[in-house]
Amino acid sequence: MLSLKKNLLAEPFSHIYVERELVGDRRTQEILHRFAHARVIEIGHYKDVFCRPRQHTALQHASQALILARKTGSLIYPGSPVCQNFGNHHFYYTSLCMNCVFDCQYCYLRGMYPSGHLVLFMNLEDYIAELETLLLEHPVYLCISYDTELCALENLHGYVHAFARETERHENLTIEVRTKTSCTQLLRSLPGSSRVIFAFTLSPEEVIRYEKKTPSLQARLEAVREGLDLGHTIRLCFDPMIHVPEWRKAYSRMMETIVKELGEERLRHVFDFSIGSFRISQDYLRALRKSTDSAVVQYPFVNVDGFYQYPPETAEEMENTMTGLLLPYAGRDRIFRWREQI
Ligand code: SF4
Repeated sequence: MLSLKKNLLAEPFSHIYVERELVGDRRTQEILHRFAHARVIEIGHYKDVFCRPRQHTALQHASQALILARKTGSLIYPGSPVCQNFGNHHFYYTSLCMNCVFDCQYCYLRGMYPSGHLVLFMNLEDYIAELETLLLEHPVYLCISYDTELCALENLHGYVHAFARETERHENLTIEVRTKTSCTQLLRSLPGSSRVIFAFTLSPEEVIRYEKKTPSLQARLEAVREGLDLGHTIRLCFDPMIHVPEWRKAYSRMMETIVKELGEERLRHVFDFSIGSFRISQDYLRALRKSTDSAVVQYPFVNVDGFYQYPPETAEEMENTMTGLLLPYAGRDRIFRWREQI
């Protein structure tokens, strides 16, 4: 039945929905040229497709359509309390894309969005204008890839380059680009900067099997190594840590691979490290569990202040273990734990 479903599914991006007012837009046309065989469907508003009731998000994810849209209203938001702020007071994130080309079984987006399709917002200028207004008031630390995976689609939209250029124009702007990709080409195409932080999420292979479509640990580490050698600012994120069977061994083996692939000297040049065990807003867990039968989301989480997470002693033990694995290579001042900021 599964293979039958697979054979019947359309290729990702074989259908592209375009908001009518964007049809003549230059960047929209450039994207459509890249998918010459795609069926292009004009729509009034992205929500007409994305927010329909009773969508099958898992099936849609396996056959993702692309929706090109214009985002209105507020475009840059203060960070949520479960996001690591790394000591930055003016911590913001923005959403240039809704959903992700990867399909991590534990991803909160599965619980947050009513659709598995991917929306790409085309009005970059509006985002930059709102950012510049904010920069007039105070410095800004902006996460540009929190609710998605921008690096995986950089060839399509060029947004990482666009925001990196903004850091050159505004010395009070720092951006963080969170990724699970092996983005060596992207790293080679950008100059190293202390205000463009590439934050690689690393997981043991035992967890990566739940991070569908993502590169292996080895491939991510190749990009990290290249990034460090090119002088990029690199953050390593062990967040979310997932409680898989024999998780201690899995995370220890991962750390051995990291040390072997990067070497102690490169690890000294990693900007900082972040650690956090899995947590999710109480509003999203139910929908997340409905979207997948994956064991990683069926754990009997406990609700602490509106966020489901592992029981505090389990979470503490997991995060302490990861901290202990890092300490031989990184001073405590370079290790951030999300629990310590709240
Ligand atoms: S890479 Fe990040 S945003 Fe994409 S599915 Fe995985 S957890 Fe979600």
